[in-house]
Formats: sequence, C-alpha cells, structure tokens
Amino acid sequence: MRAKLLKNANLAVVKLGTGILTDNRNRLASGRIKQIVGQVERARRSGREVVLVSSGAVAAGMEVLGHRIRPSRLEELQACAAVGQSRLMAVYQELFSAFDVQTAQVLLTHADLQDHDRHLNARNTLMALLAGGVVPIVNENDAVSFTELTVGDNDKLAALVATLLPADLLVLLTTVEGLVRNYGKSNAKVVSSVKKIDGPTRKHAGGTQSNTSVGGMLSKLKAAEIVMRAGIPMIIGNGASRGVLSKMLAGEAVGTLFHPNESKLKGRKRWIAFFHHPEGRVIVDKGAKLALRERGMSLLAPGVVRCEGEFAAGDVIRICDTEGTEFARGITKYSLEQMNATTGKVVVHRDHLVVL
Ligand code: GLU
Repeated sequence: MRAKLLKNANLAVVKLGTGILTDNRNRLASGRIKQIVGQVERARRSGREVVLVSSGAVAAGMEVLGHRIRPSRLEELQACAAVGQSRLMAVYQELFSAFDVQTAQVLLTHADLQDHDRHLNARNTLMALLAGGVVPIVNENDAVSFTELTVGDNDKLAALVATLLPADLLVLLTTVEGLVRNYGKSNAKVVSSVKKIDGPTRKHAGGTQSNTSVGGMLSKLKAAEIVMRAGIPMIIGNGASRGVLSKMLAGEAVGTLFHPNESKLKGRKRWIAFFHHPEGRVIVDKGAKLALRERGMSLLAPGVVRCEGEFAAGDVIRICDTEGTEFARGITKYSLEQMNATTGKVVVHRDHLVVL
C-alpha cells in the first residue's frame, strides 16, 4: 500500500519547517538545505514534480537583524520575516542554480486561498511554474498576514497548497522522526502509519509537541486531517536524516504515513471544506444528519433546529449535530434572517455540501 501510494506520487508538496532549515544557533543550515535541495532535484529528474513550502523566513531575518531570541511582538516577527524571506530565496536559488533550475517565490495568505477567484489564480500560477520546469517555493506572506506566525509554522499552509493543486503527496520534514508513541521514554517508537486520527493519535502527538519548533505535532495532525479527507497521503519525517526524502519516495518505511480517505473530494468541494473560517452555523436534528451523512442528500429547512453566528446567502456555513460537533460544511442559499421563512426548502444543496 505504502509503496503503491508513493510510486504514484507524481506531484509532491514538500514542507520544510524552521527547525530543519536552521542550526542550533538559529542560523540557516545551508549544508542541510543543500542536501534536501539535492534530493528534490533527484525526485524531479525521476519525473516527479515538486512544490516546496518553506518556513525559515523569520529565522533568516533574525540572523540578519541580529536578534538572538525570537521577538515576541508580532510586528517585529513580521519585519524579520520580510527581511529573511529574500535571504531565504537567495539561498534556494543559489542551490538550485547548481542544477540549472529556476525557483519562484510564491507568497500566499489564507485570505487569498479563501476567495474563489484568487484561489484558482494561485493554482494556475503554480501549475504554470511547474509546467515551465520551475520549482515554486511557497511561504505565507508573513509581512501582511500572521496565521502561521502565531500558530502553525506553515503546516496548515502546506496542507492547503497540497489540497489546492491537488498534489499526490504531502511531506512534512521536521526535527523528529515522525509521530512517536511514548516520546522521551525508553520504549519510544515511531508510529509507522495512521489510518484515522483519533484520541490515542492525538495523545502521541501531545508527547512530541514541546520538542518540535513553532508548529509542533498537533498542528501537523491538523494538516493531516485536511489532506486525508481530501484524499492525499501525508508523511512526517526527520529532514535532518540523510536521504530521507529519497527514501520516502522510494517507499521505504521511514517516518509516519497518514493514509488518505478513499473518497477523493473534487476541486470545488475541497475549496468549500478547507479554505474558510465560517462564522455561521446551523444545528441540525438526527434525521438530517443521517440523510446528509449516509444518503448524500441536501439539507432541508425542517432538519434545521437553530442557527448561530452571522451568515449571508452564499456563505460557507458549518453544519453541526445537536451535540455541537461539526460534521459537514456547505454553501447556504439563505441568510440568517431568511432562514426562518424557508420551511420545506433546500437550505444547502448536496452539490455545495461536504461531509467532513
Ligand atoms: N512563515 C514563517 C516563516 O517562514 C513561519 C515560521 C515562524 O513563525 O517562525 O518563518
């Protein structure tokens, strides 16, 4: 299974975390970056396409501006990222030049990916770069946006980029071997594969959390949830271990493999499911939940118990059960105000609805 998934991974998104791009003095680890660039180039020569998602801008900027410790103020972090981003790109371009390969800087924000036109534009740009043999290097546009600066070290961004394309594989290279059971204890063991993210999986992740950089293992599990549902496999592995990417792509049992769901989501449904932060939600009864989940039906007004938050017609809303658990998302035909007068009508059509 693992070998087959990886053999067919023609388009891979590879994310490099800050920890792997820097040494223990918080400087760009150019030797290690060179090693990874070499593996990316080998993958490309064997016929695969690779999009890099790279952190490290803040760290590179800290080095240039002489900050020994990570600034705590957001604007200082953003200034570091702005300075460091060009430094980082210079390093990549120099390393890829050795293979006569061009790189492209693609800076994205979550808002870019949420807006449908900009979403499609970002995709078209990435596809055009790949078609031209260029290696796109994506980062969050930290100078204007701060989602990953505060929470994720690009794990979610990488999952969204993989989902947007869609890629056949997402690789997260970090400073630990993968998801580790009993981390730090004598019986510690890397979990080789995960089919479902459940309580025990999250517990292992908690153990690994403090020992990784900004994002930690929990943000990697959130990334896994997105791509697994989208139908894309993901591997977490140690970017410092020599040849790790080549080994992964060859199907060797390194790191932790997260298996994709069997049902792949189509483009528009991927956009509905993962690229929004819906403020409105509808609570639906048991019958409606069953109809949506088991029978793939539309959400009808009588199934709605109540509405919460703000939403307008055409917005993506959360669809939750009576316990408050979100189990689906979709585009509502009605605003919150219109909802009361819609007895019997389709509120969210099945074509615009995704069961999560
Ligand atoms: N996008 C950021 C970077 O490239 C994330 C990492 C961080 O917060 O330090 O540096």
